[in-house]
Amino acid sequence: MIDLRSDTVTKPSDAMRAAMAEADVGDDVYNEDPTVNTLQDRAAAITGMDASLFTASGTQSNLMALLCHGQRGDEFIAGQDSHIYLHEAGGAAVLGGLQPQPTTIHPNGEMDLDVVEGLIKPDDPHYARTKILSVENTYGGVVLGLDYLKRVRAFCDAHGLLLHLDGARLFNAAVALNVEPREITRYFDSVAFCLSKGLGTPVGSMLCGTKDVIERAVRWRKMLGGAMRQVGVLAAAGLYALDHNIDCLSDDHANAARLAAGLEGVGFLAGRVRVNTNILFLDITDEESLQLEHHFAKDEIISQGQRLVTHLDVTTKDIDRVIDSARVYFSGQSNP
Ligand SMILES: *Cc1c(COP(=O)(O)O)cnc(C)c1O
Repeated sequence: MIDLRSDTVTKPSDAMRAAMAEADVGDDVYNEDPTVNTLQDRAAAITGMDASLFTASGTQSNLMALLCHGQRGDEFIAGQDSHIYLHEAGGAAVLGGLQPQPTTIHPNGEMDLDVVEGLIKPDDPHYARTKILSVENTYGGVVLGLDYLKRVRAFCDAHGLLLHLDGARLFNAAVALNVEPREITRYFDSVAFCLSKGLGTPVGSMLCGTKDVIERAVRWRKMLGGAMRQVGVLAAAGLYALDHNIDCLSDDHANAARLAAGLEGVGFLAGRVRVNTNILFLDITDEESLQLEHHFAKDEIISQGQRLVTHLDVTTKDIDRVIDSARVYFSGQSNP
């Protein structure tokens, strides 16, 4: 099976499983899990933040960041189709009483700061208090430039906003820009990144921030039921991933580019392929993508909608099989 639905589908390798099996553990609610502590120190160092916390998921990290930065009656601004606004079950509103203010994200991943400025509410009892801006990088695979991030930071400073990074794919962005992750994270007050996407662990995400934010996040995590005990077995997977799998992301990007080039060469898809880092989109209709899904399934290729995602468990040979399969499907068809 070649599963191109998401980079969340990766399975832990034998070496990662071995690292998990051998992990030193303790009760992390007592801060006594040495492997978790090592992972948290490592994540803080990588992002240049004071501290970090191991969490169950990216969703939990994002939620905890919002709960730490704002309170009931406060507002956060985020992209209309950003994960933190659209795909997290409204958690900040449900659990934190935080009002979301969505805004447009351009295809290049940027929000127009003039537009964002217009969304900031005046200090007036009619309005929620605008407190937080959340930025996603990568955004659907699109990497935000450092110049833009610098401008966003200055914007937040000028308007007294806290700035959160949903960096589920932070390392894809860093690898694509060929910079250390902290060159990206330095502009933010808090950073969430996923261990279970391109980095290939079965579980886990990190929330990184100031000492004060992380201390408060510990309480939120407890309240959310996310404080776990001998969780070093999972943290060991995270440490393994940070040691061994960051460099592999450039292979994923190369595979996505190879897939894009191959699909561009398939008549019908010419001019309908967009690729950024490890995520590829086909500009085809829902019906067309459904038909393609059915065809792929017969060749033991799993896809979902218009998006194809490369990851640790997809090889270059797999990519060539996908291209061949698409070629067979589209051959002779000007309209599938
Ligand atoms: C996957 C993802 C998350 C959340 O991750 P989960 O671990 O699935 O909760 C957050 N933000 C973005 C941009 C993501 O792609």
